[in-house]
Amino acid sequence: MVPVRTLAAEIEATLAPARAAFARLCPGLCPDCADPCCQRVSPHGLLDQTDVLYLAVRGWRGTPLAMPTAKGCPFLTPGGCGLPWQARPFACLRYLCRPIQRALAEAELAAITSAITRAAALRSRLMAAFLDGDGPAEPRGQP
Ligand code: SF4
Ligand code: SF4
Repeated sequence: MVPVRTLAAEIEATLAPARAAFARLCPGLCPDCADPCCQRVSPHGLLDQTDVLYLAVRGWRGTPLAMPTAKGCPFLTPGGCGLPWQARPFACLRYLCRPIQRALAEAELAAITSAITRAAALRSRLMAAFLDGDGPAEPRGQP
């Protein structure tokens, strides 16, 4: 079984180009967006169990407290997303909106789409490895 730490590191490396593309494009696109995606998501936010497991395995600390809102993501602030890129939910990277798609060159869009598919598969393996007994702490001994 591939350890969760190895899988989480692979996820990080696989998603790095997508994070970089979003970090490059969002400051120019999102402030003028006519239909901001972050205002359309659940007020509970989009962090799921696999995201939390991934952050724990990577040893991530400092995720800000989610602030409940009347509408949209609890991490949305007047200045944009309150989460650093390393901690953003996978769902936020997987969503390639039309403005982002249009801004990406064809080859980069294809590479990011492929990387997101690969990351999704790695996330499934991460959760499976965790459920099989591996985890953020040292592997559990047999009872
Ligand atoms: S839909 Fe696209 S451009 Fe609009 S806020 Fe979301 S990521 Fe930004
Ligand atoms: S976590 Fe950030 S990028 Fe994702 S929906 Fe919330 S505010 Fe938007």
